Amino acid sequence: MTDGCRLVMLGRQGAGKGTQCVRVARHFDVPHISTGDMLRAAVRAGSEVGLRAKGFMDRGELLPDEVIIEVVDEQLTGSESTRGGFVLDGFPRTVAQAEALDKIVAPLGGLDVVIDLDVPVSVVLERLASRRVCEKCGANYSVAEPPTNPWVCDACGGDVVQRDDDTPVAIRRRLDLYEQETAPLVAWYAERDLLETVDGLGDADDVSERIIAVIDARRSKR
Ligand code: AMP
Repeated sequence: MTDGCRLVMLGRQGAGKGTQCVRVARHFDVPHISTGDMLRAAVRAGSEVGLRAKGFMDRGELLPDEVIIEVVDEQLTGSESTRGGFVLDGFPRTVAQAEALDKIVAPLGGLDVVIDLDVPVSVVLERLASRRVCEKCGANYSVAEPPTNPWVCDACGGDVVQRDDDTPVAIRRRLDLYEQETAPLVAWYAERDLLETVDGLGDADDVSERIIAVIDARRSKR
């Protein structure tokens, strides 16, 4: 058994999952596995998965469970880098995906904790409309907090753009799907005694501290 952290981050689009997952992964020195980032890279590379994914993504629809489950399974079990733990961002998004994840992570020791990063819909709508992301590394910015040189990523020099699926119609569709398909996972993980709800409002440093405190408390009970 490793000493790492095997974590799933739930939360609405725009709750700050991407930003917080990067920080938590760095803190625990484990890989950040974002299905959205992986799929956007696959679209850019023009791979078979990318070609299949693009239409779903642009419309704000979810990919079929079996496609995304295979992508995540390969990432989690096909690589030594996840032996010490991982931070999963954007997966699972349906109960079928959560059931598949259970089986995938059983040989790795199961999950330590599932965080529900809680931010109200009114706030995420504002954040999504002003969100800008680096095309190359996925770093997050906003109209209010742009990179130092407009619109060049501070971290990697990539182009910082509005996501193709951050249009009003696709945003509404993704939030509706979150309520229908993903919100039930909160109860699903609570029943399995894995859920911790963390307030995602306020300064990003404060939110990170809250998340890390919750994970440390869980790990100390192991
Ligand atoms: P995200 O960056 O997490 O908002 O993901 C962007 C898009 O990728 C989503 O709107 C879906 O089209 C697709 N996607 C990412 N993760 C999943 C998943 N777990 N299941 C199905 N589709 C996904």
